[in-house]
Amino acid sequence: MEELLEHAAAALEDRTRILVFTGAGISTESGIPDFRGPNGVWKTVDPKNFTLRHYVRDADFRRARWRRWFGEAPPDHEPNAAHMAVADLWATGRMVGCVTQNIDGLHIAGGLPADALAEVHGNARAIECLDRGHRHEVDAIRLRWLDGDLDPHCECGSILKSTVVLFGEQLPAAATNRAGEFSRAADAAIAVGSTISVFPAAEFLLAVADRRHPLIILNMGPTDADSLATVRLEGKAGELLPRLVEALEAAPPG
Ligand code: NAD
Repeated sequence: MEELLEHAAAALEDRTRILVFTGAGISTESGIPDFRGPNGVWKTVDPKNFTLRHYVRDADFRRARWRRWFGEAPPDHEPNAAHMAVADLWATGRMVGCVTQNIDGLHIAGGLPADALAEVHGNARAIECLDRGHRHEVDAIRLRWLDGDLDPHCECGSILKSTVVLFGEQLPAAATNRAGEFSRAADAAIAVGSTISVFPAAEFLLAVADRRHPLIILNMGPTDADSLATVRLEGKAGELLPRLVEALEAAPPG
C-alpha cells in the first residue's frame, strides 16, 4: 500500500485543480450505511421504491419517509478522518472543489466551505413543494408533523418533499452547474467511497479522466471505473485519504 500511496501522490504532485468525488462509502466510518457495499441499504430495501413516481402516488410511502426523518431521533453522525482530509486538501489550495453524491452534510461539518461543494443529489436541509418549488424551513414542517400533520402539503396544495433527490427526479440545477464548473476546470480527480455507478453524477468524474488527467480511485471493493484509474487504492477512506493528503501537503506544487 505504501508504494501505491506514493504513486498516487506522485501522479497528483503538480496538480492544483483536483476534483474530489465522493460517495456513500466516505461516510460509513461515521456510521451511515452505504447503498451497495456489503452492509448496504439495498440489501434490505428495494431501490425500485425510491422513485419520485412512488413518492407522488403513495401517501403511505411519504408518511413513512417523514416518520423516519422526524419520528426516529437520528443518531448524531460526526464527520470522520476522510471528511477532514478533504477539507485539509482544500486548505492546501490544490483542489478545485468536491462533487458529492451524499446527502448527509458531513463535508460541511468536516470543515469544507459550502462554495467548495456540489451536493448533486441534494440534501436534507430544505423542504420544497413539488409543483412550484416553494421553500419551507425544516423546523416549521417538523412542528406541523409533531402536531399530527403526517403528510404535510404546501399552502398551494402541492406535495412537500425534502431536497434529497429520488430516482427519476431531476438533479438540482445549482449543484449540477457548480459540479460542471469543477469538472471542466479540474486537472486531476480523486474518487472516494463510490461504486461510480450512478449517473449522471459519475459523469462529473469521468469527464476528468476522459481528458486523460490522473484519476485516483480509493474504495473498498471494485468500482465501475477501475479500468480508468491511474492508481487504485483498496481500503478504508478514513485511513488512506489522510495519508494521501499528508503526502501532498509534504510536497507543495511547483
Ligand atoms: P454505493 O453504495 O454505490 O458505493 C459505496 C462504495 O463505498 C462501495 O463500493 C463500498 O464498498 C465502499 N465503501 C464502504 N465503506 C467504505 C470505506 N470506509 N472506505 C472506502 N470505501 C468504502 O455509493 P455511491 O457510489 O455513493 O452510490 C450512490 C448513492 O448512494 C448516491 O445516490 C447517494 O446519494 C446515496 N447514499 C448516500 C448516503 C450518504 O449521504 N451518506 C448514504 C447512502 C446512500
